[in-house]
Amino acid sequence: MKISGFPASGRLKKLLCLLLPGLLLVSLTSSCSDRKEKIFRKSRILMDTLVTISVVADSGEKAEKAMERAFDEIASLDGTLNFFSGRSEVSLINRNAGVSPVEVSPSTIDLLTKALSASEKTEGAFDATIGPEIALWDFAAGRMPDDKTVRARLPLVNYKRLRVDRERSTAYLSERGMSIDLGAIAKGYAADRAVEELKELGIGAGLVSVAGDIKGFGLKPDGGAWKIGIRNPRATGADDIMATIELRDEAVSTSGDYERYFIKDGKRYHHILDPGTGYPSPWCRSVTVIAKDGVDADSFSTAVFVMGPERGMDVLRTMGFEGVIVDREGKVHVTPALRDRIEFQRNH
Ligand code: AMP
Ligand code: MG
Repeated sequence: MKISGFPASGRLKKLLCLLLPGLLLVSLTSSCSDRKEKIFRKSRILMDTLVTISVVADSGEKAEKAMERAFDEIASLDGTLNFFSGRSEVSLINRNAGVSPVEVSPSTIDLLTKALSASEKTEGAFDATIGPEIALWDFAAGRMPDDKTVRARLPLVNYKRLRVDRERSTAYLSERGMSIDLGAIAKGYAADRAVEELKELGIGAGLVSVAGDIKGFGLKPDGGAWKIGIRNPRATGADDIMATIELRDEAVSTSGDYERYFIKDGKRYHHILDPGTGYPSPWCRSVTVIAKDGVDADSFSTAVFVMGPERGMDVLRTMGFEGVIVDREGKVHVTPALRDRIEFQRNH
């Protein structure tokens, strides 16, 4: 899914990089218990990335059915939120910017409402109306826009000009040229929705990962928690894990400056933009957020990345979320309650 404002070309090439998301699934070997429950796992390319679902079940048939339903749910969101498909609801909203409100499905209203709430709570550091700025950058080709254009488009980035009417089920961008890009929130939301489907089909434990946005529930058959690896943002290999965390009915997301970027004249230009400047935010290398819901972990990992370590830690505290920030110098900041739960690897 082109949920973010990147051209289709080069995205599949990028897929290999997405196999190395900020969060890595570890310890997923199947193990049997007295109850004969096992872990079943399946992956699929959806939302233009690798989606992996693991479920604990006592029969392959039950697991298969539940995983298919969860994949279908993600595929359906993909169709609704796809940035480039002319038929998606997001495209419809974008095409009608400054023209008229458009009617969209309840789940799009739900997600846009959550996006607006994240903007309000982060003083606009998260802003789903980043579309006009993100469209100027081509990270795959290493092309940066000229400064005049970046500045000219800044007034088009303003979440306050995105009007969501829940009663009428409509969304409206009030200025021509505005556009929504849900790349920083949709994957976490999709993980939430997939988990809901799994639970509805009677699955008591599982893990859904949409690239670096992961949601876990229940325990593995051996009674252990799902273990997640946080990638070293300056990793040289795919398995360079900085730390591990056990997930307890919660979601975890990482935003990193290593996911889509290029280096020009010794400077790194990456895909997480400061909505106030239109340029990549310079304060962090990676931010991992743990929250109950994937939609929060995803949107706040992006927002905290933009806010930087000081304001970022404040907002995590206010929201009651946990997190790990690797700042621009490589210094690691961990929220107090997470310090007992996080396990750093030797040499980190
Ligand atoms: P994530 O990897 O979740 O941090 O999402 C990054 C993606 O979200 C980028 O590729 C853009 O499509 C979009 N994005 C970039 N900067 C922002 C921002 N400040 N607020 C909201 N979305 C953003
Ligand atoms: Mg995000």
